[in-house]
Amino acid sequence: MAIQQKLSLMIPGPTPVPEKVLEALGRHPIGHRSKDFQDLVEITTKNLQWLHQTENDVLTITGSGTAAMEAGIITTLSKGDKVICGENGKFGQRWVKVAKEFGLEVIKIDAEWGTPLDPENFKTILEKDDKKEIKAVILTHSETSTGVINDLKTISSHIRNHKKALSIIDCVTSIGACNVPVDEWELDIVASGSQKGYMIPPGLSFVSMSEKAWKASVESNLPKFYLNLKSYKKSLSSNSNPYTPAVNLVFALDESLKMMKDEGLDTIFKRHKRHQLAVSEAAKTLNLKLFAEENHLSPSVTAIQIKDVDAEKFRKTIKNKYDILLAGGQDHLKGKIFRVGHLGYINDRDIISVISAIGNTLVELNKISTREVGEALKVASLQLKET
Ligand SMILES: *Cc1c(COP(=O)(O)O)cnc(C)c1O
Repeated sequence: MAIQQKLSLMIPGPTPVPEKVLEALGRHPIGHRSKDFQDLVEITTKNLQWLHQTENDVLTITGSGTAAMEAGIITTLSKGDKVICGENGKFGQRWVKVAKEFGLEVIKIDAEWGTPLDPENFKTILEKDDKKEIKAVILTHSETSTGVINDLKTISSHIRNHKKALSIIDCVTSIGACNVPVDEWELDIVASGSQKGYMIPPGLSFVSMSEKAWKASVESNLPKFYLNLKSYKKSLSSNSNPYTPAVNLVFALDESLKMMKDEGLDTIFKRHKRHQLAVSEAAKTLNLKLFAEENHLSPSVTAIQIKDVDAEKFRKTIKNKYDILLAGGQDHLKGKIFRVGHLGYINDRDIISVISAIGNTLVELNKISTREVGEALKVASLQLKET
């Protein structure tokens, strides 16, 4: 029988929240125009720049990840602008919708769900654009719906060579999970959300803006008010916000960023890699197939196919029996795959538990024997060894 209070979130957001961060949420709010709050904005902004590996402005918005992406788009682009949208999953689809909604002319580069976008396709279209009509390339780094990571490093090098186009990147499930060196890759606009790798509840989103992005914003004519990043930049110069921010979430952010600094970027990335490998290798040992192409697996979520069993029922069984919440498949993948989130505040115990839960449930369904569960745990333990 489920014990609600012990529910373990192994979905790609919202992710588990550390106790210290929960305590910060429980404090009395303070005035958002106070000196104390300004000090907090100053330090969290500095630490966000550390996490994003950038000297660019990193702006904090009260809203979910989608708000940050939309803000980046409407702050820099104009009606009728030509943009490339990469689409190989549900989130890629969302950015196509947003772009069209704002009257942008979309050139779609897609790939089958479960496979990565081909950087060569970006290169070809960008190289052909000698009139420099393409104003931006919009894409998702870690495609949460399929568990695929796109080759952002290579794609961004093609965008840079074009000179004119901005990169507008959804890094919602890659920042804080794997290396995204914003300055080194010269990424212009990078969006993310608090309920993912940042280990705090939903409600804040972050967007970093390059010099080039700010330059483009001067000409932008898309309608905007609350999400006009120019207002956020202006306020940030005095460590403030244009509107009332989610003050308690900023308390939480301050705590979680301190924890991340204590752990160190490299250790955080290695932990996510170990967990990703443990889950994917164990799944294969349990006779399950990965949905995403190997060598392109997201550091934060593993999508697993399950045959002759309704993945939704399977998830429900695991939730009821083990208090572990897994994510389902979206759209045509509903019932066909389940997704294991290993993003943010996740430790080796969580990984061993989820593998045992999946394995034991398969045994109960007479799909495998207990020997295979033992094998899967052995395989996982090898991957969990710290090197
Ligand atoms: C979670 C997520 C988002 C943001 O979704 P919101 O519900 O707006 O926070 C965007 N992109 C990806 C890849 C995500 O995983």
